[in-house]
This record gives sequence, C-alpha cells and structure tokens, in this order.
Amino acid sequence: MTSYVQKLMAEVKSKNPAELEFHQVVKDVAESLVAVIERNPHYGNAKILEQIIEPERTIAFRVSWVDDAGRVQVNRGYRVEMNGSIGPYKGGLRFHPSVNLGMLKFLALEQVFKNSLTTLPMGAGQGGADFDPKGKSDGEVMRFCQAFMNELHRHIGPDTDIPDGDIGVGGREIGYLFGQYRKLRNEFTGVLTGKGLNWGGSLMRSEATGYGVVYFAAEMLATRNETLEGKTCLVSGSGKVAQFVIEKLIDFGAKVVTFSDSSGCVYDSDGIDRGKLAWLKELKNMRRGRVREFAERFPSAEFMSAEVGSLEENPLWTRKADCVFPCATQNEINHRDAENLLKNGVQLVCEGANLPTSSEGRKLFIDHHILYAPGKAANAGGVAVSGLEMAQNSMRYNWTRDEVDRRLRVIMKSIHNTCLDAAAEFGTPGNYVNGANIAGFVKVADAMIDQGVI
Ligand code: NDP
Repeated sequence: MTSYVQKLMAEVKSKNPAELEFHQVVKDVAESLVAVIERNPHYGNAKILEQIIEPERTIAFRVSWVDDAGRVQVNRGYRVEMNGSIGPYKGGLRFHPSVNLGMLKFLALEQVFKNSLTTLPMGAGQGGADFDPKGKSDGEVMRFCQAFMNELHRHIGPDTDIPDGDIGVGGREIGYLFGQYRKLRNEFTGVLTGKGLNWGGSLMRSEATGYGVVYFAAEMLATRNETLEGKTCLVSGSGKVAQFVIEKLIDFGAKVVTFSDSSGCVYDSDGIDRGKLAWLKELKNMRRGRVREFAERFPSAEFMSAEVGSLEENPLWTRKADCVFPCATQNEINHRDAENLLKNGVQLVCEGANLPTSSEGRKLFIDHHILYAPGKAANAGGVAVSGLEMAQNSMRYNWTRDEVDRRLRVIMKSIHNTCLDAAAEFGTPGNYVNGANIAGFVKVADAMIDQGVI
C-alpha cells in the first residue's frame, strides 16, 4: 500500500468505523487510482477522490407499518445520494435484514464507477431498508412499501434520484412503491425503473443484468480466442440476476451445474436445461420457495444445506468448472473459495453480484492472470437498461426487445473495451479491476472539476 492509500484508509476507518465493506471498496478504488492521481496532480489538488467517497447526502428514516396480525412493526429506511455530477442519482433499493448505512455506502460507491462506465448520464445512489420480504404476505409487503415511500417520495424524482430494485426488491415491490409515489405526488412519471411493461417499464430490464454479465464474459473469452460453448459454469444465487445469467449461458451453449439461495446450494451433474430453468423461475418468482425443492424434484440434482457447509469454504465453489458467475451477495467468495476454484482450473470469474469476492480472493485471481471481471463492470447492464428505460419514459415511446438487447450488447462491449484500454494505459494490461476503477473515475472527476467545489 502506498503512503497515500494508507493515510486515506486511516482517515476513512476513523471517520466510518465498522463499515467494513465500505472500507473494502475505498481501498480497492484508491489502490487503482494512485497512478492516475500521480499523473494528473489536479485530481489530487482538488481532493476528488476524498470528495467521491463522501456521500453528497444520506437520508435515514423510520418506517412504521402494521403486519397481518395487527402488530406495529418498525424498520429503518435509507437513501444514500452518493454523486450527482454526471446525472441524477441512480441505483437500487435493497430490502434485507442485514441492510445498514455502511452496506449502502459501499453499494453507492461502486455505483459511481459503474454508472460512469455505462456512458449514460447517470449519477449514483443506493437505498433500502432492514426489512425482510421473505415469509411476508403480499399485503404486508405492500404496506411496508407504502410506508417506505411515504418518506422516500420527498427525496426522489425523475430529475433528482431514480431508484431501481436490488436484493429483495423486484417487480412486486417496485409496483407497490410506484403506486404510492403516484398517489402521493399525483403524477405519472419515470421516478423508478424496473417498472411493469404496461405502466412505463422497458422490455429486457428484467433480463438486462444477467444477460449483460454473460455478454461481458463472452467478450473476455474472445480476447483469448475462446467462447462459452461447451464450458462448465458455476452460478450462485437464484434471484433476478442469477436466473438470467443461467438463461443466457444456456443460449450460448454452456453447461450450468449450480445455483443457490441463502438456505444452501444445488449441484446438478446433468446441467440445467430450459425446462429446469423454467421450473426454478416458477419456484423462486411465483411460489417464493427454497432451492431444496429443486433437488427433490430432479433426481440428478443434489442439495447441500448452508448449515452443513464449513464456515471456511462454500461447497458450491469446490465444484470443478471453467467459468464462475457469483450472483448472490457480497463476499461470497473468500480466500479459501478462490484457492479451491483455482485448484480446479477455473479460467474466468465474472461477477454478477456486487463485491462478491473478498479482497484476498480478488488478489489471487489477479495474480493468477485468469480472466476476472469486477461487478462494477460486468453487472452494469442492469443499470444501463434502467438508463434506457428513463430515456424511453422521457420520449413516451418504447423500443422493441431486439432494439434494447442490441443496445445492451453494444454497451457491454464498450465497457469491456474501455476497461481494457484504461488498464493498458496505466501499465496493468488485462487487469479489469484497475481498468473499471480508472475509466469510471476519470469521467466523474472531470465533471466535478468543471462544476467547481460544491
Ligand atoms: P435477488 O433478491 O433477486 O436474489 C438474491 C439471491 O442471492 C437470492 O438467491 C438470495 O437467496 C441470495 N442471497 C442474498 N443474500 C444472501 C446471503 N447473505 N447469503 C446467501 N445467499 C444470499 O437479488 P438480485 O439477483 O437482484 O441481486 C443479486 C446480486 O446482484 C446483489 O449483489 C445485487 O446487488 C447485484 N446486482 C443486482 C442488479 C439487478 O438488476 N437486480 C444489478 C446489479 C447488481 P435468498 O432468497 O435465500 O435470500
């Protein structure tokens, strides 16, 4: 670590104690940017990085609602408006019991670089609540979303801040949130993305993150004259991102053998075909069931409970595979998991989730020169198509599915090439982490300098 990064990290830790994932992202970004700041002293003089890591605004609020038994429940809601220099704040809402301010700050900071890479005019934000939609009735989820929007509506708007979904927030939640916003403000406007198709949504938004991840992986493999055809792939998660990663991998002729949820993971030696994927989607999206049921239904599949796995390693990452797509949550690949994957000859790790690989795991992947793409580059297709949804809302016009998919592919290719170019320019060819951090930073930094100290 250089003395600049050491000093910055000491300040960040003393100012933001206990925000471990936020520290992880700041360190990751700062290490990539040392060379850029040395070559461009005006960024250092204007303390651009120090400004970027401080949210422009954080909002925390009480969310009180009534459950089906008539009991009052109290949750905490947040919105972190991280950086608005290249466009209105844009980023997801996460509903999960683990949500706290530090987690949202790490996600919002990743979003600054991700949104910049998409080439679309979007600033960065992230929000959510420590509410768990799992096990709640539709009525409870609706009342929670309405109570959450009762406060959030004051802080968002189509030219100010446009939230989207993330963990625990899908089409159902976006619908309830949008309905309450419309009721409170008496306006039908593109204030949220991920909307339903017949009330302002974009075709392909649901697929975009997952498809984009696979398009990015295909670009990476192409640099080594390889394709996804016939490759064995591990996917984690079984939510919005994982389902469409699996779908596109099947389209590209790959064999997917795993997926998971927080209760455990499934390994299917025969691979997941379209029929099994349709069954999984129905299980997760309609019945809201657990992945164990998949193994009970299909004899070639085995389930391993999260409680049985050791704390040191995740059994999902001990399976042999060519390509790996972590699509569940942060830090789901630790040092030991990364060692297991490398031991089994993994060639490519392409992150669908945000920050799924620990700092130690990431270092191993980079040191072994496998193809490794950080989430902020590889999963940017979701927010990119959200940006296209905003554009369609402004025009009051919808593009066809093929048109959105074509634009998504172009954007993913452009992000891929931008990362490679920036990495090479700063002496680390093939390092997608440095490339994503550098290219994402420069655009935001220049906009901040143009706009003065505010
Ligand atoms: P979903 O809520 O749809 O799915 C999340 C999946 O991950 C579920 O299978 C869930 O299991 C599992 N999971 C969540 N938390 C944990 C945990 N602590 N341990 C083990 N498994 C867990 O979320 P998304 O698919 O939308 O998001 C997945 C990841 O992708 C997140 O990192 C998100 O930030 C990132 N992302 C999402 C985008 C989007 O467009 N949705 C865009 C860019 C990034 P269970 O159901 O049991 O909780």
